[in-house]
Amino acid sequence: MPLRARLTAAFLVVVLGPVLLGAVFIGAAVNAVTDGRAVDRLNAAAASVTAVTRNHCDRLTSTAAAIAVLFGEDTAAATAAASHAVTSQRLERVWLSDTDGAVVAEAGVEAAELGNQVQCRQPTSVTGIDTLVAGVEVQDADGRRVGYATAAMRVDAAFLAELAEVSGAEVTVDDGRMPPSSSYTGARSSQARESLRLAESSAESELVVTGDTGLMVRSVPVETGSPVPYVVSLYEDSGRELFGILAVIVVTAALLAVSAAAWLARSATRPMAQLADGAEAIARGDLTVRVPVHGNDELAGLARSFNRMARETQGYVQALTASRDQLRGQLNLLGDTLSSTLDLERILEVIVDTAVVATGARAGVMLLVDADNSQMLAGRIAEGPAEVGTRRTGDIRLPIGEGLLGEVAARTRAIRGTVGGEGMPILSPREPQCRSFLAVPVVSLAGRGGDGVEPAATASGLLGVLAVYDRPGDDEFDDTDLTTLRTFAGQAAVAVGNVLSHREAQRLSLTDPLTGLWNYRYLQVSMAREVERAGRFHRRAAVIVIDLDKFKVVNDTFGHLAGDTVLAEVARRISNEIRDVDLAFRYGGEEFVVLLPEAEVSGAERVAERLWQAVRSEPVSVESAAGQPERVIDVTVSLGVAVFPDHGDDGSQVLSAADEALYAAKAAGRDTWRVAGR
Ligand code: GH3
Ligand code: MG
Ligand code: MG
Repeated sequence: MPLRARLTAAFLVVVLGPVLLGAVFIGAAVNAVTDGRAVDRLNAAAASVTAVTRNHCDRLTSTAAAIAVLFGEDTAAATAAASHAVTSQRLERVWLSDTDGAVVAEAGVEAAELGNQVQCRQPTSVTGIDTLVAGVEVQDADGRRVGYATAAMRVDAAFLAELAEVSGAEVTVDDGRMPPSSSYTGARSSQARESLRLAESSAESELVVTGDTGLMVRSVPVETGSPVPYVVSLYEDSGRELFGILAVIVVTAALLAVSAAAWLARSATRPMAQLADGAEAIARGDLTVRVPVHGNDELAGLARSFNRMARETQGYVQALTASRDQLRGQLNLLGDTLSSTLDLERILEVIVDTAVVATGARAGVMLLVDADNSQMLAGRIAEGPAEVGTRRTGDIRLPIGEGLLGEVAARTRAIRGTVGGEGMPILSPREPQCRSFLAVPVVSLAGRGGDGVEPAATASGLLGVLAVYDRPGDDEFDDTDLTTLRTFAGQAAVAVGNVLSHREAQRLSLTDPLTGLWNYRYLQVSMAREVERAGRFHRRAAVIVIDLDKFKVVNDTFGHLAGDTVLAEVARRISNEIRDVDLAFRYGGEEFVVLLPEAEVSGAERVAERLWQAVRSEPVSVESAAGQPERVIDVTVSLGVAVFPDHGDDGSQVLSAADEALYAAKAAGRDTWRVAGR
C-alpha cells in the first residue's frame, strides 16, 4: 500500500470517524425529540378540535334557547328571530316545533336538506354526518313540555378548515365513509384519505399511528367527548428536514474530508516522490537534476538540501573531470616529450609540470647533478599548477648533502613531511621555501653500480632530485603522491639517462679516445665554421699543425704503449696552452692541429712558440710494466703556422699552407716552427 493511500486512509479515519459518529448521535437525538414533539402536537390538536366542536354545540344550544322563549308567541316574531340567528351566526337552520314534530316557526334551509344529523347531546357514530344539531325543550309556565327549539350548523369543508386552523393539524370527519366526503376535505384531500386509511387500519381507536410517508394520525372518537368523531393528522416534516440537513452536512463533510485527505496526502507524498526521482536520476549519473522546492516546510528544507548536494556533487565531479583532463593532457605531453626530444631542459620542464599537476602541488623542482661538478645539484623551480603551463622562477644550485634536496640526493632516499617536523632536514636558504614537501631521488637504474656504459654522475647512479611543494589546503602529501612522484622520477631517470647517453655518444663520435682531443671529423666541421665566420666578419683565423719529431724512434725504443702515453701527454700540454675559444685536434697518428679563432699571424706565432716550449721543456715520464724502472723520454715537435685569409682562401688551403710550413720546419732540422709563406 503506497504511502499516499495510507496517509489518505489515516486522515479519513481521523476526520470522518468522529463526523459520522456525531451525525448518528445527533440523528438519534433529533429523532427522539421530533417524535415526542409530533405526538404532543397531535394530542393538542385532538383536544382543540374537541373543544371547538363543543363550543359550537354550546352556541347552537344557546341560540335554540333564545328562540325557545318565543314559542307560543307571535309566529312572525319567532320566525324573524330564527332568521336573524341563521344569518348572524351563519347557521344552517333554526326552527321551533311542537311535541308532535310539527314545525311552528323556521328559518334557513328546508328540514329535508339537513341530511344526516348528529346530536350534540347524544353523539353517535353516524355514517355520513352532514350537520351538527343542538336543541332545547320548550316548557310552559307549569313546566310541561310543549315543544322543541333546535339549531343546526353544517359540518362541511369550511367547518373543518376552521378546526384545522385552530388545531394546527389536518382534520377530517371519521364518519365511516371511504373515501371521505368531498365536503370534509379541502386542498389536502390526499392527506385526509391517508389519515383515514391509517385510522381504520389501527385497532385501537385513540392511538397515534405513523405511516410510511411520515404521516402521524390520531383518532378523536366520540367517546373522548367530541360530538363528532374526527381524525387529526400531521407530517413529521420538521424531523425529516433536520435529517436532510444532517445528511447534507455529513455528505459535505465527507467530501471535504476526502478531498482534504487527498490533497494532504498528495502534498506530503509528491515532494517525496520528486526526491526519489531526483535520487534515481543522480544514481543514473545525471547530476544536473534539481527537485522543485514548495513552500518552506521540512520537506522543502529536504528538497533544498538535496539540490545543494546535487549542485556541489556536480561541482566536485566537474572539478575532478577537469583535473583528470588536465592530468591526461599533461601525461600525453609527457609521453610525447619523453619519446620525441633530447632537449634536456624541455624534458625536465614537462616532468616537473606533470608531477605538479598530478599531485596538486603549488610548485615543483627537478635538480640534476651538475655535469661539471658532481657534488652540486642544479635546476630551476616551476610554480604551478593553476594552468598547465607553469611558471619558471629562479635557478638553484645546491651542494649535495645540504638542505632537504641535498639530503635526498646524498642518501638517495625519498623524504616526505612538513617543515619543522620531527626528524626532517632543515631547509637550505638556497632551495625553495615551503610548508610541506615530497622529494624523491632520480636514480639511473642501469647506472647503479657503475658498469661504465650508462652515464651516472655518482657512484650511486644518482641523476638528480624531483620534488613537489605545498598542496593547497595544507594537506600533507600522502602515499599515493609518493608512488606518483616515484613513477615520474623513474621516467625522468630513463629520459635523462637517454639524453646523457646520447650526448656521450655524440661526444665520442667527435673525440679521440686516446688523447681526449677533438678528432679529424670535427676539425673539418670546425675549420669550415671558423673560416666562414672569419670571412663574413673580415676577421682572421690561424691554424697550427704540430708533428712529433722522430716519433718512430720513440715507438721503436720504448714500445707502442709508451708512445701512446707520450701522445696523450703532448695532447694535454697542448690543451693547457690554448684559450677556451681555441680548439685542439688530433690530426693523424702523431700529428695535432690547433685552431685559433680571431688570431693574426703574430698571435699565432706566439702560440706556436709557447706550444713548442711546452713540449720540449720537460721530458715525458712513462710508467713501465711491473718491475721495470720509470723512464723519461725527451720529446720535441715541429710546428707549421698558417693564417686565413693571409695564406689561403679556404680551410683546406690554409691547412695545406700550415702543412707546408711544417715541412719547412722539419727540413730546417726539426724542433722548431715556421710560418707559411705566400
Ligand atoms: P719525422 O716526423 O721527424 O720525420 O719522423 P717520424 O718518425 O715521426 O716520422 P713519421 O712522422 O712518418 O712517423 C710516423 C710514426 O708515428 C709511425 C708510427 O710508428 C708512429 N705512430 C703513428 N701513430 C701512432 C700511434 O697512435 N701510437 C704510437 N705509439 N705511434 C704512432
Ligand atoms: Mg708524422
Ligand atoms: Mg713525426
